[in-house]
Amino acid sequence: MSHDFQSPLRQIPKIDRILADPKMSALIDRFGVSQVTDAVRQTVSDLRAQVLAGTVPPHANGQVADAVRESVRERLEAAGRRTLRPAINATGVVLHTGLGRAVLSAAAVEAVAETARGHSLLEVDPESGERGSRLSHIAGLLRDLTGAEDALVVNNNAAAVFLAIGALAAGREVVIARGQLVEIGGAFRIPDVIRSAGAKLVEVGTTNRVRIADYADAITDQTALLLRVHPSNFRIVGFTEEPGLDELCALGRQLGIPVVDDLGSGALLDLTRYGLTAEPTVHASVAAGAEVITFSGDKLLGGPQAGLVIGAREMIARLKRHPLMRVLRVDKLTLAALEATLRHYRDEASARREIPTLAALTAPAEEIRGRAERLAALLESLPMDIELEPGVSQVGGGSLPGEELPTTLVRVKPRKVSVTELARRLRVGEPSIWGRVQRNSLLLDPRTVREEELTELAHSLRQAVCAGATTAEERE
Ligand SMILES: *Cc1c(COP(=O)(O)O)cnc(C)c1O
Repeated sequence: MSHDFQSPLRQIPKIDRILADPKMSALIDRFGVSQVTDAVRQTVSDLRAQVLAGTVPPHANGQVADAVRESVRERLEAAGRRTLRPAINATGVVLHTGLGRAVLSAAAVEAVAETARGHSLLEVDPESGERGSRLSHIAGLLRDLTGAEDALVVNNNAAAVFLAIGALAAGREVVIARGQLVEIGGAFRIPDVIRSAGAKLVEVGTTNRVRIADYADAITDQTALLLRVHPSNFRIVGFTEEPGLDELCALGRQLGIPVVDDLGSGALLDLTRYGLTAEPTVHASVAAGAEVITFSGDKLLGGPQAGLVIGAREMIARLKRHPLMRVLRVDKLTLAALEATLRHYRDEASARREIPTLAALTAPAEEIRGRAERLAALLESLPMDIELEPGVSQVGGGSLPGEELPTTLVRVKPRKVSVTELARRLRVGEPSIWGRVQRNSLLLDPRTVREEELTELAHSLRQAVCAGATTAEERE
């Protein structure tokens, strides 16, 4: 029985012999003998496994050594590359969590680089020379931008919600509408968050309807807070009812119970002005009187991953005193990016222009069409069919669910390689490129591709459709 695969196995050279081959010396000079030895060992072991599984055709004598050396080189080069590499997002999903959500503005990138490169005024007051607070860099800006009394920032919005419940409601009850017991993704489920923060969940209303009287009936001397959670990634339509945040806050004030509003994305600008449906704004929550308002730094705000908490002075003070505050502390690079991002919002036109997320969401149709045409022109001479067609982009990242943003798609049908193989080559390339595979074409949405990425995108497509067309068939 072993007879069948013994001989192909014997064709695989011994590790020592491979390493001693003079043709390996260039690789050894470049990567060092121990890395090369490891790579040879792994390559040989993979090859043995493939031979035993019958997934590689037998090589002609002499070809095995070349094939092993080539795959050792590929392995070493791949190991030398960072895995967290840049990507071009041609999916049309503006806040693509897998691709890192918001892209920072040039000013935010510069602030991060400067802060990373040297020392900074992170926790000192230059005037007095005394120790200061790292939150000072964003608290004043957030107060000015939102009208809230005070602000803090933690690792992400999930952390912000957890901190608010832990600090304000541990050991007591949190009242929330049943229709708001949402799962955000990544196993962040509101009922679990409430429980693990040490509070007791009290649900009111039904999935589709809740009235202010339901809240009033559920309040006892054990109630610590009323929680409102924005259902950011789905919509309930039809026979629905929910009290306004102002009504909920009025009830809370009347009974001395704070309202915590988890906005999710939290828009600092009113996006309806640019034709997007209403995402609740931070200003509206402040105006309604919510004591604590939480939202993400890297959703519609367009900044770094962070959880922003704004609200009444004494509530923010209670959150700051909680031990979790230290656990959830943000680092200086986040603060640098966040401060720079928030500064753009002092002028709406500047925010729209400078913050890539807002620029992508509010891009006029002709601008996107122009970019699609420029991309198509760059691809003209390649062995593939290119067509422009109307389509839709998505906001993504748990913001504006169901919102469909009209766009112009570039439909690519390669002639010499399959679409799945083309898409794979683009993903593993540098930069990594992500589009949408739809039946036998690749759809590229220029809404999320920046102007300066177009030439790189075209260059990568050229390489992907032209390089080694035969390996495509072998792989399929
Ligand atoms: C996205 C979201 C969160 C989690 O925010 P992260 O910043 O991703 O941690 C929490 N609540 C709501 C309503 C959200 O939409």
